[in-house]
Amino acid sequence: MTIAPQASRERRRLEIGGVVQGVGFRPFVHRTARELGLVGFVLNDGHGVVVEAEGDAGALDELAGRIGRGAPALAQVEGVAVRRLEPTGAERGFRIGRSPVAHGTAQIPPDAATCDECLRELREPEDRRFRYPFINCTACGPRLTIVERVPYDRANTTMRGFAMCAECRREYEDPGDRRYHAEPIACPRCGPQLMLPAGDGTPGERGEAALAEAVAVIDRGGIVAIKGLGGYHLACDATDEAAVGRLRERKHREAKPFAVMTPDPPALVEVDAPDGALLTGFARPIVLARRRADATLAAAVAPDGNPSLGVMLPYTPLHHLLCDELARPLVMTSGNRSDEPIAIDEEDAVRRLGPIADAILAHDRPILRRCEDSVVRAAFPVRRSRGFAPSPVPLPGATRPIVAAGAELKATFCVARDGQAYLSPHLGDLNGERAYASFRSDLELYLEMLGCEPAVLACDLHPDFLSGRWAREQAAERGIELIEVQHHHAHAAACLAENRHEGSPALALVADGTGYGSDGTIWGGELLRCDEDGSFQRLAHLEPVPLPGGDAAIREPWRCAAAYLEAGGRPVPQRWEQDWRLVRQSLAVNAPLCSSLGRLFDAASALLGVRERAEYEAQPAIELEWLAADIAAQPYGCRVERGAIAAHELIAAVHDDRVAGRARGEIAAAFHEGVADALARACAAHPGPRVVALTGGCFQNLRLLEATRSRLDSLGYEVLTHTHVPANDGGVSYGQAAVAARRIERCA
Ligand code: ZN
Ligand code: ZN
Ligand code: FE
Repeated sequence: MTIAPQASRERRRLEIGGVVQGVGFRPFVHRTARELGLVGFVLNDGHGVVVEAEGDAGALDELAGRIGRGAPALAQVEGVAVRRLEPTGAERGFRIGRSPVAHGTAQIPPDAATCDECLRELREPEDRRFRYPFINCTACGPRLTIVERVPYDRANTTMRGFAMCAECRREYEDPGDRRYHAEPIACPRCGPQLMLPAGDGTPGERGEAALAEAVAVIDRGGIVAIKGLGGYHLACDATDEAAVGRLRERKHREAKPFAVMTPDPPALVEVDAPDGALLTGFARPIVLARRRADATLAAAVAPDGNPSLGVMLPYTPLHHLLCDELARPLVMTSGNRSDEPIAIDEEDAVRRLGPIADAILAHDRPILRRCEDSVVRAAFPVRRSRGFAPSPVPLPGATRPIVAAGAELKATFCVARDGQAYLSPHLGDLNGERAYASFRSDLELYLEMLGCEPAVLACDLHPDFLSGRWAREQAAERGIELIEVQHHHAHAAACLAENRHEGSPALALVADGTGYGSDGTIWGGELLRCDEDGSFQRLAHLEPVPLPGGDAAIREPWRCAAAYLEAGGRPVPQRWEQDWRLVRQSLAVNAPLCSSLGRLFDAASALLGVRERAEYEAQPAIELEWLAADIAAQPYGCRVERGAIAAHELIAAVHDDRVAGRARGEIAAAFHEGVADALARACAAHPGPRVVALTGGCFQNLRLLEATRSRLDSLGYEVLTHTHVPANDGGVSYGQAAVAARRIERCA
């Protein structure tokens, strides 16, 4: 029997785009439609989810409303297109339809932390997945990191090798089950297992025995390399001074703070509401927050003077089991040596981490896409990677597909189309073989996922960046347009685009390390005016100084101090005199002119004896910020004339106060205020745009950011800062795509 069409009866087709596959969307629609007494079907197609529902008009409105409001936690609905159809009266129930052989634009969700329901089962002795370290469902588990190609289903992931048992199969096929089409579904009978390979790579203990051994090693002060979602970590007891010291020694990492995994972040750091939301969100990033004075941690976790600490909650079932057993905070640092990409497979782990770790806790579910932990401060993202990639960031104006190759360090690429930008995970230093291989294979996956070929390529102006070389080669090979974007212009465009600023010119203060300038010198302390057509003007910049020895000056900030002291007519301190005489001889051959604000901070840091040699990127500036803390100080003055910021006067003031014996903290504070003051005055010197974007790696310095922002506020500017992409070079690919979008629009 069929139901005759009635007057109030309607049929509607809803096409839902965004991250809607592999996140439990179809069961959600199925359940909701049945509750509302609607008939019809829901299915996945190559673009997203399609619903055709028939019934009472009010119920159909309610269905659309609930899809908008109550979509599953991991779903990101980007748009719902609704069309009226003729009611058929031919259906009796609501069903999940068969998906057409999908190839195309279906998006891959990001990896997600273990959900509460899975966690409950993990700890329930009666559950068949009790203590199973790979428990997951449609609301949680591995995603991007295990995907080989699209469409996103099990056969195209590294779960392909695990044949489902009858019970898993039943759950997977039952639309009423929360594991309906959970592609990585697994259980102890049919899924991946833990293993503890011996140092020579031969398999050792498995399952619970492997876990118990890893726990025992950490418990007695050892270091364990642990395979996670997007790669390996090195873990040890964060309260054990000797253990953390050994990890530092073996990893050759003297000072860079370690991140800590703990089920109880408020015991270690001050957690306010935004921090809390970040910590517990499904992306589970490392959150940088203010360290509590009474935090029980080994001193070696973070060196002296560091007011903040990076903490994260356990995010895989294995992490939960480890934290439950050990009941103390764990150091969880990248499984690598110094700054190399982290290890993702067993062979690499044994080779590179074997010498560091006392044991390796591996498993047999392969990781295909390297995804390091994301790092955020409540105010802005520092590294956008696991849990965020490949979710898009809006990019208005990106109509034709754009591929932006990014920068070189902290590399990411970006594929933009249809008003959305998809950034890669953090790739690290592209000069490494592993990072470059990830760049190419991840890009291939993204293009497949988005079903597009690049119509335009964008890259940095720098002649030697590997990303730029790749883009130039591709452009020549494919005969497509290449847009080269100046590094700091890309930073500026990124900040403007993520704030959806368009339609009028804007200013951007770019406080950065080094980047290749349009005139062939090194830039990095820039006031730019950005226009709607994707062009820019350099309105002001730090007065350039020679950068003695090029990149060597970045590792040895005392060189920057010496160069600035000479520019400021001050003597070079005796402790550097001998080295400086040698370096100085090479000035004529290797000392590019440089207007970088990062190098200015290096100079002040070295001069104050904070850091004369850098162990990691930006360390001198970071430690200078700690020294300045929130000490009140009047700004040092410096001239800002005809677009030149006489920054050497700030260094001269630092020198003079140091000689006069003023407290170092006060000097550091007056320096921060002085830089902010000069930057704000540079803006004020230009009539016109009343909007200023603050971007570039140096604006990760909260004191500098707030000091600059408050001055611009009181001058009446609208101030824009980053919330979606990093202010550092991790956001450059997005900015390149934004500039390219503007230029194409102009030509269209
Ligand atoms: Zn779950
Ligand atoms: Zn099973
Ligand atoms: Fe930069």
